[in-house]
Amino acid sequence: MRVRGGAHCYQPASLVNFGIILDQKPRNKIVKINQKNQTSQIQAGALLGPIINELSNHGVIIPFGTCVTNGLAGLTLGGGIGFALREYGLTMDSLVDIKVVLADGSISHANHEVNSDLFWALRGAGGGNFAVVTDFTFKIRPTKWVTIFTMNFKFEDAKKVLMIWQTWAPFTNTKLTSEYDIFNKYQPIIVTGQLLPGKSKESDQKLLFKLIKPLVDLGIHTSLSIKHLTLQESAQYFGQGSYARPLFFYNKSDFNFRPLPEKAIDIIIYHMSLLDKSQSYNKTEINALGGNFSKFSSDSTAFPSRKAIHWLQYTSLWDISYQEKQSVAWLKNYYKALRPYFPENRKYVNALDYDVQFSPEDKNVEKNTQTAQPSTRLEYPALLELLPRLNALKSYYGDNLLELIKIKHKYDPNNFFKFEQSIPSFECFD
Ligand SMILES: Cc1cc2nc3c(=O)[nH]c(=O)nc-3n(C[C@H](O)[C@H](O)[C@H](O)COP(=O)(O)OP(=O)(O)OC[C@H]3O[C@@H](n4cnc5c(N)ncnc54)[C@H](O)[C@@H]3O)c2cc1C
Repeated sequence: MRVRGGAHCYQPASLVNFGIILDQKPRNKIVKINQKNQTSQIQAGALLGPIINELSNHGVIIPFGTCVTNGLAGLTLGGGIGFALREYGLTMDSLVDIKVVLADGSISHANHEVNSDLFWALRGAGGGNFAVVTDFTFKIRPTKWVTIFTMNFKFEDAKKVLMIWQTWAPFTNTKLTSEYDIFNKYQPIIVTGQLLPGKSKESDQKLLFKLIKPLVDLGIHTSLSIKHLTLQESAQYFGQGSYARPLFFYNKSDFNFRPLPEKAIDIIIYHMSLLDKSQSYNKTEINALGGNFSKFSSDSTAFPSRKAIHWLQYTSLWDISYQEKQSVAWLKNYYKALRPYFPENRKYVNALDYDVQFSPEDKNVEKNTQTAQPSTRLEYPALLELLPRLNALKSYYGDNLLELIKIKHKYDPNNFFKFEQSIPSFECFD
């Protein structure tokens, strides 16, 4: 059986042949907005667009992702990267309670007091691994407007802009989260971002001008726009690509822990410049992280990559099936060329990749073996021989993997919830 939220998984993890798909689509409502406690209970089948609209009408925000057709469940259970991240963290960082149906059929809750180990695991490794989530309760924040900026630059200036942006964006005021986008050489470089509100729209505009000064001072932008939008409008603005996409999609990604060296930037620009005019949707998107997202420790939830400063996504999109070979080959070559610059090989589970491999030279393998408690009977190298997919899981969960396997064994000993890259229970090794 597989659970399905918004069906936006990059791999068919919410689909199954000859099995049952538990589609949560009809359960898509906000159950309650509690203004006094500043919380909102939302059913797990909700999509982001309608939920943002409704929350926006109440003047409150949860830090969501940018795609309005994305499912709330998958996004939240794997993390949730969006334009409020540097102030409020990942979507899952706002969770206060999760209602679940466990593998034995019982209904339960996970929060800081009840099943706190499960709550830890569901925040970052929850998609399809431990339980069916039926409802989320989030902390909400009053937010009436946001201020958006968008700057365009010539493709030829891609390197100059990225050199500045990459050391500015993860370290600027936490209320500002931004993204750097590069497409083919016929399109501008776009830097866009969202500032969360302060005292007034006027003061926010002033502050934003001050914050983006390093980019403005380059003196090479071809356009700059700043607007105040409602949350609803902002979701439409950033999610505008969600509907009008080509049919097919291939994607790889990396968390990055230090500024990119010039050589890596050259590789990015070179591969984007290889695209022809018709490949206008192909994109490298770099999201700024840092800020309050990084204030959580790497083991405070199952999501381990808190020290990353960027999340990079390399995406190829095409419309006609015969374009697949060329589109995938371009992305694979590009991704291969960048490998030396991402030694951690750290991946985001919400960009699930069934090809992902973890380097056996990883130093943490040794560390993990030493810190594993004897009672768990876990020896990482021995486990690796039994189950090669642990290599991939290490890329998503880092040093949190062993704890996740223990929790899986506690809540789902018979491995009822499983997919190609699911967290195994011990029974898998029998
Ligand atoms: C166009 C697009 C834009 C995106 N933009 C962003 C973004 O801005 N930020 C970001 O962080 N990510 C983004 N993503 C990635 C996205 O968050 C993940 O793919 C996410 O897993 C999708 O969730 P879903 O519910 O739509 O998918 P589904 O395919 O329905 O589910 C994904 C996984 O979660 C499991 N799952 C679903 N519902 C439940 C449940 N109720 N209980 C337990 N497990 C469940 C499924 O079994 C599956 O393993 C984007 C993806 C796409 C395709």
